[in-house]
Amino acid sequence: MEMEPVIGLEIHAQLNTRTKLFCSCPTEFGAEPNTNVCEVCTGQPGALPRMNALAVELAAKAGLALGARVNGRSLFSRKNYFYPDLPNGFQTSQLDPPVCEGGGLGIAADDGSAKRVRLNRIHMEDDAGKCVHDERRGITLVDLNRAGTPLIEIVTEPDISSSREAVEFLRKLHGLLVRLGVTRGRMEEGEFRCDVNVSLRPRGSSRLGVRGEIKNLNSFRFVGQAIDYEIRRQSGVYAAGGQVLQETLHFDSAKGETRSLRSKEEAHDYRYFPQPDLPPVQVSPELLERLRAELPESPEEAAARLLGLGLKDGQARLLLERRGALEYFDRAHAAGASPQRLAALMEELFLPFCQREGAGPLDSPFAPGLMASLAGLAGDGTLGRRKIQELSERLFREGLDPARVVREQGLAQISDEGELYELARQVVEAHPGESAKYRQGQEKILSFLVGKMMKLSAGRAEPRRAGELLKEAIARGGEG
Ligand code: ADP
Ligand code: MG
Ligand code: ZN
Repeated sequence: MEMEPVIGLEIHAQLNTRTKLFCSCPTEFGAEPNTNVCEVCTGQPGALPRMNALAVELAAKAGLALGARVNGRSLFSRKNYFYPDLPNGFQTSQLDPPVCEGGGLGIAADDGSAKRVRLNRIHMEDDAGKCVHDERRGITLVDLNRAGTPLIEIVTEPDISSSREAVEFLRKLHGLLVRLGVTRGRMEEGEFRCDVNVSLRPRGSSRLGVRGEIKNLNSFRFVGQAIDYEIRRQSGVYAAGGQVLQETLHFDSAKGETRSLRSKEEAHDYRYFPQPDLPPVQVSPELLERLRAELPESPEEAAARLLGLGLKDGQARLLLERRGALEYFDRAHAAGASPQRLAALMEELFLPFCQREGAGPLDSPFAPGLMASLAGLAGDGTLGRRKIQELSERLFREGLDPARVVREQGLAQISDEGELYELARQVVEAHPGESAKYRQGQEKILSFLVGKMMKLSAGRAEPRRAGELLKEAIARGGEG
């Protein structure tokens, strides 16, 4: 029987706050063990938590950007379990209702079609501390600096079908949350990590199979490897006629294998109950409105806007993919440049130049205002395509004002027809043999004559118009 993978993700992102979720201890990374602690985050009897308002804002902001419903009122619960680095004996988390419900994020499916990975919920919770095993002394130490650090957990529906889709989803989500400032997203410091749920089912079935849950992956590469390993492992179990067990697994990145931590039978009973020390979390309509106004344009919205300005598909995609390109475009556009001409200049010359230099468009000395001026000179025919190509490298590198360069170097394309015709006549007169050949039907020779005319005009003739005037001059036998 052919089986298909079904994957759901639970992502923990550390909220970008200076202080912890329920106290004012700093969230900084790498401090001396147990220095960023107080009676609240070490779970002293009688210490009372106080809600970090910025954490709520960031969680709501993530929800808005992901198209989720943000609840005006949500609750914290105690999720009870024992662990040495969990000083309260419970994690303060949200069960029902969480701060956000629903929403989703679009990715490309494996068959290339567009697909939306739905979200089940986003809830807030505090992080645990850290156990440090000292092998040499044979003891375990506890560092509570991280205890109480604010997290959101984003839970997807099981809508993902492969490791590639999972990694694309995670990269997109990570990029979005970092851009929003919801998290700093430094994965090596544990600020963005993910649990992966994988099961197999007969292709086409709508029932879910039994899943393995791989805990705490902190790199995109490990996520991909762990999923592929788990799919192979479960396929092997089914192929041998066995049953996959519901298990919590650990991914050993050195071996590239998953290993069982505990089975369903050993699963925790968390005895969730409402945390009596905290009032309900409120998100007012006014706050939501402010957050919505602060939200940057989504990639989908930006793409639609660019296409509306008359850009080609590929150009819109390019501007969205290159870091800083869209912002550069918007600024140059705001300075009055024609969007299409601007997009063409950026696509053909400016972005390739930036890439060669390994610099972002916004760091270039050729500021958006100068690009607008260049687009203007292209638009009114002052500078021809070829001239722009010739000048571009210098303009971009030195941040020169193109209008000034044109003025100082007399580079403007010749627009006076009389002057142009005179140049054509001189070329025909100087090359009687070639002109005769053209007259006899050797049309290809015209490009030779156009070349001569470009040279004579120091590149200031427009090649297509030059060709037309040359034909005219040849027809008139080089007469004036
Ligand atoms: P738990 O809290 O025990 O981990 P949830 O029901 O909250 O369980 O599900 C957690 C994640 O696992 C979600 O992302 C969900 O989509 C995913 N998931 C649930 N069942 C399956 C399954 N059979 N196969 C793959 N993913 C699953
Ligand atoms: Mg889980
Ligand atoms: Zn504290």
